[in-house]
Amino acid sequence: MTTRTIEARFERMSVNDENDPGDGTRLYQKPKTTVSTTTSQLPHNSSRPNLFKVALQSQNVSSTITTVPHASKKDKPTASSSSSSSASAAPRSSDELALTERKSTTAAAATSYVDAPLVPKQFHLGMFEIGRPLGKGKFGRVYLAKERSSNFICALKVLYKSELQHGGGVEKQVRREIEIQSNLRHPNILKLYGHFHDSKRIFLILEFAGKGELYKHLRRESRFPEWKAAQYIAQMASALQYLHRKHVIHRDIKPENILMGIHGEIKISDFGWSVHAPNNRRATLCGTLDYLPPEMIRSGSKDNWYNEKVDLWSLGVLTYEFLVGEAPFEDTPIMTQKRIARADMTIPEWVSKEAKDIIKRLLVLDPDKRLPLEEVLQHPWIIKHCVKGERAANREKALSK
Ligand code: ATP
Ligand code: MG
Repeated sequence: MTTRTIEARFERMSVNDENDPGDGTRLYQKPKTTVSTTTSQLPHNSSRPNLFKVALQSQNVSSTITTVPHASKKDKPTASSSSSSSASAAPRSSDELALTERKSTTAAAATSYVDAPLVPKQFHLGMFEIGRPLGKGKFGRVYLAKERSSNFICALKVLYKSELQHGGGVEKQVRREIEIQSNLRHPNILKLYGHFHDSKRIFLILEFAGKGELYKHLRRESRFPEWKAAQYIAQMASALQYLHRKHVIHRDIKPENILMGIHGEIKISDFGWSVHAPNNRRATLCGTLDYLPPEMIRSGSKDNWYNEKVDLWSLGVLTYEFLVGEAPFEDTPIMTQKRIARADMTIPEWVSKEAKDIIKRLLVLDPDKRLPLEEVLQHPWIIKHCVKGERAANREKALSK
């Protein structure tokens, strides 16, 4: 994306600042500065305090959560235990929850960083130049945005409080999304830099995913070649490994909730359904049918429990859909449910032996027998295509220079 195209996208403004000293309806002026970067990198030439940097620092200050480096293959497997052996990487969930609760009380006033001593200013709409709309969800409208003092490109998600109130319990979901997502730092997880609100709206400052929804790419291409699918699945596995280590279960893994960065990398988003799993047992029915694991669709008593292994099942469904172009249990709702309960699916014979193997090892009825993420990352299908795929991608890059 060139500087000019980015600039063009800021020519029309569509979100008004109710705190704007002007008439509150004018369009923002195009600033004299130009965008120095097209990715979400911070420009180094800005002399003004870099609010995003401060925000990120203050996240560490105000939170008990230690930043965990990018999950690597050497990391321990994601055990189902809720225990504290990995305490430095994943703090006790009770602490996290206590902290986030405190935070949300303070957040009633303005931003999540109000109580952080390092923050010189609170975020407000006037700090952003709003660009083209990026998309619309059930409750959110998302715009390309640029933080004025740093030229930092981001996505601003606008949620109307009135709509959330009428959505029945969605406010809680949004609060959860904010609390969980703002504490996550991983290259394949969409970053939430901060949030603020005015009388009518809540604004989420999100990492800009330059290539949009993965779902659209999948529909356009029908299905992905194996090397590409394998690279995506490896990135997903790495992100899930990081989440699980922090005792976060995503619970809503599906192509619609995956965005793509400017370099075509995966960015998991939509933490509305995710939960902290302090005791490994949750029993709420949520998510979309096609991606639901058997332990979550089984209705009734004590069988209806699950842990982070629900995400492994969804990863299997995702692998299948990437390669085949449709989900493995796609059918009428009743039949989908029945087929999930029996893990009843057929993999087309043109899918490679290794890919079939990884799908079958993830779509296992017994959650404890599903292939752990560490082994997903070491699986021959991943090893084969990731190394090769990287080479192919590098060749492509070299040719386009
Ligand atoms: P739903 O309720 O259907 O899940 P949602 O509210 O989760 O929707 P949003 O997160 O509001 O959906 O996003 C709406 C659309 O905006 C997305 O589908 C995507 O196309 C675009 N979008 C959202 N966030 C970003 C981002 N950070 N970068 C680029 N595009 C984005
Ligand atoms: Mg969504």
